[in-house]
Amino acid sequence: MFEGTVFGKLDQKLQHAVADAGYKTPTPIQEKAMPHVLDGRDLIGCAQTGTGKTAAFMLPILDHLVKVRRPRRIGHPRALVLSPTRELAAQTAENVRAYSKYAGLPFACVFGGVSQFGQVKDIKKGAETVIACPGRLIDLMTQGIIFLDQVECFVLDEADRMLDMGFLPDIKRIISKLPRKRQSLFFSATLSPQIMKLAGELVHDPVQVSISPETPTVEKINQKVMFVEKSQKDMLLVYLLKAHPEWTRVIVFTKMRHGADRILKKLLRAEEKCAAIHSDKTQNQRTRALDGFRKGTVRVLVATDIASRGIDVPDVSCVINMELPLETESYVHRIGRTARAGESGAAISFVTADERGQLKAVERFIKKTIPVDRDQPFHASSPDGGRANGRENVRSQEQWIHPANRNRTNRKRQKHKSFLGRRQPDFGQK
Ligand code: AMP
Repeated sequence: MFEGTVFGKLDQKLQHAVADAGYKTPTPIQEKAMPHVLDGRDLIGCAQTGTGKTAAFMLPILDHLVKVRRPRRIGHPRALVLSPTRELAAQTAENVRAYSKYAGLPFACVFGGVSQFGQVKDIKKGAETVIACPGRLIDLMTQGIIFLDQVECFVLDEADRMLDMGFLPDIKRIISKLPRKRQSLFFSATLSPQIMKLAGELVHDPVQVSISPETPTVEKINQKVMFVEKSQKDMLLVYLLKAHPEWTRVIVFTKMRHGADRILKKLLRAEEKCAAIHSDKTQNQRTRALDGFRKGTVRVLVATDIASRGIDVPDVSCVINMELPLETESYVHRIGRTARAGESGAAISFVTADERGQLKAVERFIKKTIPVDRDQPFHASSPDGGRANGRENVRSQEQWIHPANRNRTNRKRQKHKSFLGRRQPDFGQK
């Protein structure tokens, strides 16, 4: 079915499932990593979400589980994937469900914030693969529900995020329970010395594959910067959402949880269908928000960085950064929510005078100057300073607007300006 590509080396049942998922050819990370993982090698993969990295490790692992059958031992999984966030764990589990639909490989997905009942049930049914967040996994190990002594394949996904979130002690505890003879796969969007030190403790004679931040996926994203004063950011956001009815799914990123809640209130007042997702929300609230976003009942998802990884929703039209993230790598993670697997998307960052340093850092990291869009009603010339030189000046807002909507949008813009004029006091920063 997939002769001549690495997918062709997989078990037939997996190939059918891959075809059902609509994959036609492997992505670069899959092309580079999968042959080594299929050969049983340890691997350090440097790749961000959106590159197809989940399939790059999951398909070879499932292939191993199908081809090398062993008697099932309840509570003793053969494959373990560690994920930093519940959302990423749930999405990886969805991939496993899709890929193993013909092979019938039982799995369990375990994370905190919800009852363990359903998760324990899946483990007791003989899950061979467990996708887990560190905290709940340790909980279940302590309760004598999961044992790691039979793990043949271990994946540490988004290792950099794990360290950021302070999971290092948990990870070390988990690693200490794994058998010495195993295959270990280590994925991270960045490879800092600290990350490489952790990798060194985990992998043995690894192959290293890297998909740099300037992957085609990120290059396909139409990135823009808008200079705006802090007090006008909310108005600019509402303006853009009204001016672009063709954006069906928009993710708005904020640095802080309370910022996300504040923006949500403004958007609700502006009659946008919106929801927020951050670490103060319960698991059920997060799931509901993401489901609504997937189904299209929620148009605008307001999220903090913690949620930025692993939001796997196709057709995100635009990502808007209310502020640039403190960590430059997060910029790539954030904008990677759009332009998933080959589609194109837009990413707009609101930048104040104070954030110019951060903008420079982001540009250094992505090795690219992000064009400034001055043609918006809240453009603040002061943050611009001497930056105009050598930059592509996006003169026309029309470039952002779907041709079918241009006239309509111009009319709307006029109307909207007066709407904003009337409502201005309501939209001011608290
Ligand atoms: P990931 O980087 O693993 O989060 O994957 C990002 C998205 O790309 C997911 O929606 C995958 O289902 C999709 N994807 C992964 N591999 C391929 C492929 N070879 N062709 C098309 N889509 C893919």
